[in-house]
Amino acid sequence: MEGASSSLLDAEAVADLVLLDPLTEESLVQTLRERFRRRDIYTYIGNVVISVNPYQSLPIYTPEKVEEYRNCSFFAVKPHIYAIADDAYRSLRDRDRDQCILITGESGAGKTEASKLVMSYVAAVSSKGEEVNKVKEQLLQSNPVLEAFGNAKTVRNDNSSRFGKYMDIEFDFKGEPLGGVISNYLLEKSRIVRHVKGERNFHIFYQLLAGASPQLLQQLKLRQDCGHYGYLNREGSNLPGMDDAANFHAMQDAMRVIGFSPAEVTELLQVTAVVLKLGNVQLSSSFQASGMEACSITEPRELREICELIGLEPGTLERALCSRTVKARDETVLTTLTVPQGYYGRDALAKNIYSRLFNWLVNRINASIQVKSDKQRKVMGVLDIYGFEIFQDNSFEQFIINYCNEKLQQIFILMTLKEEQEEYVREGIQWTPVEFFDNSIICNLIENSTTGILAMLDEECLRPGVVNEDTFLTKLNQLLATHKHYESKETQNARRVTDTSLPPRCFRIHHYAGKVTYNVTGFIEKNNDLLFRDLSQAMWAARHALLRSLFPEGDPQKVSLKLPPTAGSQFKSSVAMLMRNLYSKNPNYIRCIKPNDAKSAMVFTPELVLAQVRYLGLLENVRVRRAGYAFRQPYGPFLQRYKMLNARTWPRWHGGDRQGAEVLLAGLAFPAEELAFGHTKIFIRSPRTLFDLERRRQER
Ligand code: ADP
Ligand code: MG
Repeated sequence: MEGASSSLLDAEAVADLVLLDPLTEESLVQTLRERFRRRDIYTYIGNVVISVNPYQSLPIYTPEKVEEYRNCSFFAVKPHIYAIADDAYRSLRDRDRDQCILITGESGAGKTEASKLVMSYVAAVSSKGEEVNKVKEQLLQSNPVLEAFGNAKTVRNDNSSRFGKYMDIEFDFKGEPLGGVISNYLLEKSRIVRHVKGERNFHIFYQLLAGASPQLLQQLKLRQDCGHYGYLNREGSNLPGMDDAANFHAMQDAMRVIGFSPAEVTELLQVTAVVLKLGNVQLSSSFQASGMEACSITEPRELREICELIGLEPGTLERALCSRTVKARDETVLTTLTVPQGYYGRDALAKNIYSRLFNWLVNRINASIQVKSDKQRKVMGVLDIYGFEIFQDNSFEQFIINYCNEKLQQIFILMTLKEEQEEYVREGIQWTPVEFFDNSIICNLIENSTTGILAMLDEECLRPGVVNEDTFLTKLNQLLATHKHYESKETQNARRVTDTSLPPRCFRIHHYAGKVTYNVTGFIEKNNDLLFRDLSQAMWAARHALLRSLFPEGDPQKVSLKLPPTAGSQFKSSVAMLMRNLYSKNPNYIRCIKPNDAKSAMVFTPELVLAQVRYLGLLENVRVRRAGYAFRQPYGPFLQRYKMLNARTWPRWHGGDRQGAEVLLAGLAFPAEELAFGHTKIFIRSPRTLFDLERRRQER
């Protein structure tokens, strides 16, 4: 215990950044660096834990470690993700407060690993009855299934989650897990048809080809060779350190544990195979009798096999892929597509099938893990979601992701302040308002229901006739000309900005984490996210029960003229729901940092870390956290540690702890504003005072 507290106060590498003195970006990064060098990958800001990805397996997740953190006092042991998990779990179990654990950071920073550590810790410390163990096993096994379908190798991370995930774990009054509910956000479906060099499509395709038995492959009408499939890449198989075949079997086992029937697994894999095979459907142009150019299927075998898998007449799919029904007044006309239009429709179909299949998968898992009883429940939510993104080229996806992060930052500030304030009230201490940057103005710029960027995009998408991004951008430039957080060529000219580096077709937003330039190309198409109706009707016509259930709008009886909600507005409402959910809970934060770009152990690149420190708003975090008092501790342990500094409290103090602390500190003559005496805790305003105490103690 002694060792742990002295590391808390080791000025070279404080375990809690609230104690940093001086507090600057440099000192913050330097501290993380020093701690990383000592393999102390976890650091606190109050009860927020920062985790720096070690890229090596450290011996800190053993059952002995779990025991060490179980029921520990938060400050008595080294910072650890287990301490946060333990604190959250105990507060849920004993104090009846619903919890949420928010994990953020950029790709490869260790979010998903962190979420798994939290889940396994909670599983380890909660009780072990047979029924409970089954629930825990199902919850844990949802990971390999969702990772197979939702993760992929990217340049940044070999096992990168390509979707955001929020999971509510539900407990009974004794703290035993009862089940859970998973929500997913924004699967990166463009990956189905395209990925950059050095990356892969979703794991499941490679797993399936590498791990399926010859019979299964035959049943699915697949060939084992990755290179055969247009949507995959040959180099994708045999990735070092990744055993696709073994992962396939693990995934199948996991589905069994969760409760998928063999028939469901088969259906799921059939639809997966259909997506893969769609990428091999080739189109070419031919001339019709009328002399019109039209697209047609060149090699009918793939199409025929797809149709065999899903129970559909090949002619139906061919027609839907090569032509389009257009309604003009009372007439319907079948128009032929050009080859690029045909490919566009084919790819849109593949993306739609896959993303809907993924949603189905999440719902199916939920059906197994959801709590059936109406017992009163306590909830721990775990959010593993993409961090702030600033790339060379930023598009609709980055815009949406950064909007989500802006909301998370907003709720973070609100909740941290709320929590601080509540503690002060609880302890009977005067609360002085804190200055902080309120990012509501940026959230509003994006989400306001009439003048927000998302609303204006939706309006553009609804406009009849030719819509394009240029008119969208013009409108933004007009309406947001004077907005402090919006920048465009026009506003730059008007404001005589000297930095006119904004490329054409771009606008720039000044986010809390920095400026990001977005290119509007593709915004409308991505927001509309339309699938030709002929294709959804063809899917609905299939006999394959799972597939057809994914396309309810394909039912000709249900044709509606209403357009489906846009991608942007869907995301906005799911973010709003998420925020409401989080706000009702007690927050716990895990902020993940990637120390280098090479995925290598023991390399720490300060510039890279600094950028993340900014995106995560850590400095603001420390400032808010110590706006009132940097340090607080219950009177008992405080007196124990420092009573030797005053002859009246040393060696043995006979009165109460609080009184002892008062006597002790009175003898040390600190300025009055440095200290506040709460009902149960002593509050110390600046780290300097604490270090002063510590120095005097060491000089004794
Ligand atoms: P993210 O979800 O933030 O994109 P991941 O959690 O997938 O990142 O982590 C990326 C990789 O980093 C993991 O596959 C693992 O190799 C390594 N890693 C992350 N956290 C840890 C950890 N605590 N200990 C050891 N390795 C880790
Ligand atoms: Mg991840």
